[in-house]
Amino acid sequence: TDAQRAEGKRAYELDRQHVFHSWAAQEPFNPMTVVKTQDSFMWDETGKRYIDFSSQMVNTNIGHQHPKVVAAIQEQAATIATIAPAHVSAPRSEAARLIAGRAPQGMDYVFFTNGGADANEHAIRMARLHTGKTKVLSAYRSYHGGTHLAVNVTGDPRRFASDTASTGTVHFLPCYPYRSYFHAETEEQEVARALENLENTIVLEGPSTIAALILESVPGTAGIYVPPPGYLAGVRELTKKYGIVFIADEVMSGFGRTGEWFAVDHWDVTPDLITFAKGVNSGYVPLGGVVINEAIYDTFRNRVYPGGLTYSGHPLATAAAVATINAMEDEGMNANATRLGNEVIGPGLQRLQEAHPSVGDVRGLGCFWAIELVTNRETKEPLAPYGSSSEAMGKVIAKCKELGLIVFANFNRIHVVPPLNTDDEVVTEGLAILDEALSVADQYYQH
Ligand code: PLP
Repeated sequence: TDAQRAEGKRAYELDRQHVFHSWAAQEPFNPMTVVKTQDSFMWDETGKRYIDFSSQMVNTNIGHQHPKVVAAIQEQAATIATIAPAHVSAPRSEAARLIAGRAPQGMDYVFFTNGGADANEHAIRMARLHTGKTKVLSAYRSYHGGTHLAVNVTGDPRRFASDTASTGTVHFLPCYPYRSYFHAETEEQEVARALENLENTIVLEGPSTIAALILESVPGTAGIYVPPPGYLAGVRELTKKYGIVFIADEVMSGFGRTGEWFAVDHWDVTPDLITFAKGVNSGYVPLGGVVINEAIYDTFRNRVYPGGLTYSGHPLATAAAVATINAMEDEGMNANATRLGNEVIGPGLQRLQEAHPSVGDVRGLGCFWAIELVTNRETKEPLAPYGSSSEAMGKVIAKCKELGLIVFANFNRIHVVPPLNTDDEVVTEGLAILDEALSVADQYYQH
């Protein structure tokens, strides 16, 4: 409508005048204005409709504007809109019960934060106090959040600018079969060698100095490189052997994204702490947290935990989590994510790989998929170098947008991460747009 167009235009002007944006050089940044969202769609101020293959920041697992979650937030706002963390609050209690009930056995306690980065900060603090040790191991090619410690343990170039006080942060090489750091030719070799390298790192750094190992169960922004069978179990074994707290970062991979409540469920691995955010309430209100096992809870049974937040377990956020988890359960969204992955997205992307030489690798599970674009399949030369973008990637992403598709892109990768309840026809329509856009990438292919 004309009103939406005018409102959108005004919002854009004010944004450019007053809003400071994340991870951006402010002046060249040209954000898209969104005036309406529904299910797996968003609309700009001109009325153009886009399919949301990004789930925003991979958080709208139940899609936009789910009526039950919107209603739960409205009802909670009408009763108790905010409350201090020290008081018992019904939505917080129920959210904790629902989350603990979906975590691996023996993980019964939940500490609520505002998002994923602070969940990781608190998980590391708990691990340090629990073990009396300091160092934290984390993988290269990872992302754990934008606050100081969380970005220090992050293993991507976004950490470089804030790497001034990375006390005790040690990075190790990940298990990444497509671009093996260990010259592996099979997944079995990759798993064995990555674990051997990790054990060497632990021994050389000194097990008596290492408090925690933090690892995304399925690394997200870093490339959705699904760990082959045996890798997470091996990490669990090594951390147990050396008295290291195993923190599984499920901020992106949790709450149905991979088809299970937590990605560790695929491999029956039980970490000591799980961090979550995003999908827990699809991001309708900011929420994150740490799921805590009995041993770490014991450390703070009669000892003060030195940490907290004004909004820990905020009623609007936790009411949204309760409604989200119940809606996901009622509507079978995890099973649908698995089906979409196995029957629609996976096979669809495989067909794109057959049709487009620029698609070097296809991988994923559930509604969590990535393709790596390359200029040559033998050399695996990426279409954009590690840590940056390229003209070619920019053109592919712009083509998707022109044709009405929003994707999540990072370096030389395009991620296909739609809401778990996206209609099959909409996924198919989005894949057809991607098919057309990939012809742009093929132009850069060097035979
Ligand atoms: N951990 C992982 C795996 C993430 O993907 C993210 C965000 O993308 C974070 C942590 C940080 O979460 P937040 O942006 O809510 O602080």
